[in-house]
Amino acid sequence: MTDTLNTQYAEGQAPELVLEHVSRSYGQNLAVRDITAGVPAHKVSVIVGPSGCGKSTLLRMISGLDLPTSGVVTFEGQKVTGVPEGLAMVFQDYSRSLYPWMRVDKNVAFPLRHLPRQERDRRVRESIDAVGLSGREKLYPWQMSGGMQQRVAIARALASQPKLLLMDEPYASVDAQTRAELEDLLLEIQAELGITVLVVTHDIDESVYLADHIIVLSKPPSVVAETIEVDLPRPRDQITTKNDPRFVELRTHVTRLLRGVEEPAATARSTA
Ligand code: ADP
Ligand code: MG
Repeated sequence: MTDTLNTQYAEGQAPELVLEHVSRSYGQNLAVRDITAGVPAHKVSVIVGPSGCGKSTLLRMISGLDLPTSGVVTFEGQKVTGVPEGLAMVFQDYSRSLYPWMRVDKNVAFPLRHLPRQERDRRVRESIDAVGLSGREKLYPWQMSGGMQQRVAIARALASQPKLLLMDEPYASVDAQTRAELEDLLLEIQAELGITVLVVTHDIDESVYLADHIIVLSKPPSVVAETIEVDLPRPRDQITTKNDPRFVELRTHVTRLLRGVEEPAATARSTA
């Protein structure tokens, strides 16, 4: 870890996931310019930024599916060079992440094929229960609404008992009501299991509502415009929290950052 990041954390408080000067180009196209950020353990962190600013690219590098052109990603102190143990990912497009020919329980069990039957069945049962789909185990994905399918995708991620759950615009393809329900479901699960969650979104309200910690990205090629600690109380509530003057203040601040910062490097600050 660089001194600059390191000095900000007390002993044992270093973030679980660290990005140091991470950049990624595709040919001539610089997708991610220079990202330095930390994701604290057992909290909800959100990366927010405009479409095309490199959010998915960042998640691919965090999950070891792609490597930075320069810079380093470390998870629990280990440099990420392949998919790390203890990491699970939920994608935006649930219809492509589930197997249409498998029932819900088989979809959830799929990554657990190597486990003994009893352990596998227990985890499938518990994670289906955690996302509120008990009784729906024998449905096929195509028999379910988009929101329910995304619940299945979340259950499958939870079944692997991840330390770090990555979500790439997980609710971008569902209606507003379903989105709100899934946001609350995520917060409940996170509070219960204490896992580290990193969500990527372009939705400013969602970023403030979910997060303990927001990493605001600039326009592409992206750098960190600002890192924000969200001090809104938990448990959060779609009505109370979103009407809290502090929520409105934070939302305004993020909106301004996303609209206005022309040269973020000049004002960049990285706290965790
Ligand atoms: P976001 O998820 O924030 O919308 P992406 O990470 O998908 O942004 O993309 C960031 C930039 O990198 C875009 O300009 C995109 O076209 C480019 N890009 C992403 N993946 C690839 C790839 N595999 N090959 C070439 N260009 C890519
Ligand atoms: Mg994306």
